[in-house]
Amino acid sequence: MSTRTNPHLAALSSPDSLLVAAGRDRRPGSPLNAPLVPASNFVLGAERAYARGDGTPTWEALEEVVGCLEDGHAVAFASGMAGVAAVFDRLPAGARLAIPDDCYQGVAELAESGRCKGFWQVQRLATEDTDGWIRAAGEADLLWLESPSNPLLVVADLRAICAAPRKPSALLAVDNTFATALNQRPLDLGADVSFQSATKFIGGHSDLLAGVITVRREDLLAELRHSRSRQGATPGALEAFLAVRGARTMALRLERAQANAMHLAERLAAHPGVARTRYPGLPSHPTHAIARAQLQGYGTIISFDVRGDAAAADAVCARVRLIQHATSLGAVESTLERRAAVPGQEHLPPSLLRLSVGIENADDLWADLGAALP
Ligand SMILES: *Cc1c(COP(=O)(O)O)cnc(C)c1O
Repeated sequence: MSTRTNPHLAALSSPDSLLVAAGRDRRPGSPLNAPLVPASNFVLGAERAYARGDGTPTWEALEEVVGCLEDGHAVAFASGMAGVAAVFDRLPAGARLAIPDDCYQGVAELAESGRCKGFWQVQRLATEDTDGWIRAAGEADLLWLESPSNPLLVVADLRAICAAPRKPSALLAVDNTFATALNQRPLDLGADVSFQSATKFIGGHSDLLAGVITVRREDLLAELRHSRSRQGATPGALEAFLAVRGARTMALRLERAQANAMHLAERLAAHPGVARTRYPGLPSHPTHAIARAQLQGYGTIISFDVRGDAAAADAVCARVRLIQHATSLGAVESTLERRAAVPGQEHLPPSLLRLSVGIENADDLWADLGAALP
């Protein structure tokens, strides 16, 4: 169900309220929260027979919560990558694919493995190369954008790229994981597909893997559900339940973490132990102007280059106490990681640390980070 079909949500426009109100059964006697339904099959005679193809009430609660944020329909997957794979699954043999230079490692690997097998051709473009993306739009079967990008936090001019003419069968998809649907609504900007790893901000507690894709076109909705069923990329019942639970507080968490991130980005930018701070909210950021025009908020991820070499950056990771030395992002706890240490990411600046700012106290965070810097 989307906001358009659920009368309880039709009057709500604020995402904060939608996150709390959506995904609930309002009939008298129903549990207030969508129950955790660990079912594979259902008594025959109604629409729902088998979960893999027909869904479950628990997945649907998550899909309604996420879908209504962009006034669309969401499809939930076993992980973010399962959702990405469902979009790629749609490509015809010999397709042309355009992906960013700087993007989620798993997406780059999926594109590369298909290219090696001769499934498709891959063009890689800089996120900020708006003219390049506009030119690619005329020929590509799939334009996969990620904005802000991981980990360099470059913001793509989505409005301009989405407005470029593309083949009628082509799809323009945006990985919206870093911005979330609260800060950026790709479908409003003209994208066909809006993707989020629910492992990150939607779940928000580093305790689940899930992915969600939001679309407005009914044909895409049906295709994505079919692909999920065919590939068995279905979300777990507990994971979907936890993702709904996380989504309830997402607006609050994002607001707090984002305020913390701005505070830390300014401190980092002024610190002599930091050579470069990348945060779209800083006026010094190369794509700050696009970020200001396109995003509701600048997000909670900061990448910064520690002055010195990889060892100097590793030492920062070893010294933090409140901040966790861990990968991933978008959770209540702040996490810090040297990205070039990750296999496949060796091309990144060796001392670049990616910090996902959580909801801890801002002064405590800076006390921790400031003391760890060289
Ligand atoms: C984590 C992430 C993914 C993949 O999601 P998983 O849930 O880990 O499979 C894709 N894109 C971005 C930007 C991510 O951060």
